[in-house]
Amino acid sequence: MKRVALLGSTGSIGTNTLDVLSGLLDQFEVVSLCAGKNAALLCEQAERFRPKRVCVAEGVDGVRDRLEPLGIEVLEGRKALVDLAADPDVDLVVNGLAAGVGLRPTLSAVGAGKDVAIANKETLVVAGHLVTALAKEKGVRLLPIDSEMTPLWQTLQETDKGDVKRVVLPASGGPFFDTSIDAMARVTREEALDHPTWKMGPKITIDSATLMNKGFEVIEAQWFLGLPVSQVDVIIHRQSIVHCLIEFVDGGLTAHLSTPDMRLPIHQALVHPEKVSTQVLPLDLAKVGSLTFFEPDFERFPCLKLAYEAVRIGGTAPAVLNAANEIAVYAFLDGHIGFLDIARVVEKALEAHGAGSGTDLEAVFEADRWGREKAGEIVEGIA
Ligand code: MG
Repeated sequence: MKRVALLGSTGSIGTNTLDVLSGLLDQFEVVSLCAGKNAALLCEQAERFRPKRVCVAEGVDGVRDRLEPLGIEVLEGRKALVDLAADPDVDLVVNGLAAGVGLRPTLSAVGAGKDVAIANKETLVVAGHLVTALAKEKGVRLLPIDSEMTPLWQTLQETDKGDVKRVVLPASGGPFFDTSIDAMARVTREEALDHPTWKMGPKITIDSATLMNKGFEVIEAQWFLGLPVSQVDVIIHRQSIVHCLIEFVDGGLTAHLSTPDMRLPIHQALVHPEKVSTQVLPLDLAKVGSLTFFEPDFERFPCLKLAYEAVRIGGTAPAVLNAANEIAVYAFLDGHIGFLDIARVVEKALEAHGAGSGTDLEAVFEADRWGREKAGEIVEGIA
């Protein structure tokens, strides 16, 4: 029996993970659930899965009254979340937290010798060098959860890296795939949140619309796969049927295809390296008919370029990329800046920061703090 802590249980990764786990309860036990403010859903999940403990954001009402009579321990706040990630009763931590909240619990879990399945991209974007080094030292496994990264990582486990020329990450292109740059300057929050394929939280949906999400995946790829970003390319693929491509030195390509369903990569990561049957609909290629591919447009989607640029700058630039992006995305969602301003904010923050000094954890947190503050100033200048 593998004992699981699920961080971010009420988000889209969290709910899908519980859906997957409900079919694998002969192999997995849900020991803890952590959520933010969605007390109603957390309680519902806890009543169903009966974890030993739950953790919720500070000051959220109603959880204690409902769950303590069931013998479920109720914890509160960020500190409890970090402690819970290192719980001795847990073997595997699934990190489905949103944005910047994910790093400390991941470090806590890895430091305590637990395998971590990571859906929270920001963790590896900001501190991939530290998280992977610690994982190596502790002998724990980092498993990616993402439609592209999970099959890619899984395939590369059985592949000699010297045989790989490059990997290609497909991107759906988001809602503004064929929108002119003038029109993109005027798009609304609702238009940007209307993703063609995936139903996800607001932060990652905007990141998908700007292609920053794909940029994050490029940065993540170097840590999960041990490949330099010069060997990681992006291609626009509207149907979201091909989830990754591996090009070998001999010119051959391997692709991973499936019906787009987030439950598949979650399932693949959980049962790795086994193959176990799922409820995911089989792919009917004849019905799909055609698969199309396009080069990404770096002019209309500068965030993708900025992610490569952050890696080229090095040091703590990726931490600033992430921090500035997060501030800019929420500023857009709150109506303070336009859609194209998101990239402008990130670009200016990166320019002002450079590589920073040092790459240890303190330097990373300082760059994160600096990036948020700087981006806030830039947002104010625009708004
Ligand atoms: Mg993805």
